[in-house]
Amino acid sequence: MPVTLAGYTVEPLVDVEGAFFPLAIVFPDVPLESWEPYRDRFPDTFSQEDMLYTRVTCYLIRGHGRTVLVDAGIGAGPDPLFGHQRGRLLQELAQRGLAPGDIDTVILTHLHPDHIGWAAQSGQPTFPRARYLVHARELETFQREEVRAAMHQIAPGYLDRCLDPLQQAGIPATVDDDTEIAPGLHLTISPGHTPGMMRVVLRGTPGSLWLVADTFTHPAQVTEPTWCSAFDMDRSQAIATRFEVLGRAHEEDALVMASHFPTTPGRIRQENDSFRWEPISD
Ligand SMILES: [Zn+2]
Repeated sequence: MPVTLAGYTVEPLVDVEGAFFPLAIVFPDVPLESWEPYRDRFPDTFSQEDMLYTRVTCYLIRGHGRTVLVDAGIGAGPDPLFGHQRGRLLQELAQRGLAPGDIDTVILTHLHPDHIGWAAQSGQPTFPRARYLVHARELETFQREEVRAAMHQIAPGYLDRCLDPLQQAGIPATVDDDTEIAPGLHLTISPGHTPGMMRVVLRGTPGSLWLVADTFTHPAQVTEPTWCSAFDMDRSQAIATRFEVLGRAHEEDALVMASHFPTTPGRIRQENDSFRWEPISD
């Protein structure tokens, strides 16, 4: 559902969704029985006994004369990592009357394959008029040979297809740890899942909205911040960032959205000594 805040409208755009990953692959250290308390609470995040039901969500932010896309999904596909599906981001934009040339800013929260799939196509940037923003540390990390080799194991060739054309054209603009890119629209370092992952924070008066990307892969991690996904590149840093985000978002009573959660925004509630994810009801 769209959220209006700080002079912007924020709409989640689901590029693809489905049961793509076994729990034991994404969370190899979490025993299957530990998921039990969360099955009733978050039924739309599981498929059968042992599979996650996953969304890959991008966001369209419009306001203050800007048309901003947060993340670029899995791409045109068909993508073997996501059930050979094709991403539908461009159709979602078209349904809102937007062509790729209407996007003025593309924020790449991080450079995993499910976040930059549509960044470039056939060697050209997909969004021809946009500036593409990525954290400096993220860009540096994903140029390293060993990181590229590890990523190639997960999604063969995606960096060559989706990132290299942007770099060859000198397109990505790097940002630092906390940057206001438009009035009230901030990018803040949120490291651990990847070294230079960023969250997007809209600050209004009152209220704030945090798009936390993959700080949390599953809403159970709000209560279990030490649960790491296999895709957390630095586990201890990822855990530290989860605790930091939980504390601050709770303190601010922020609305929160995460790339792979159901698209309904939620809040971080305190429950005894821990936190829990509470989707807002309309
Ligand atoms: Zn992701």
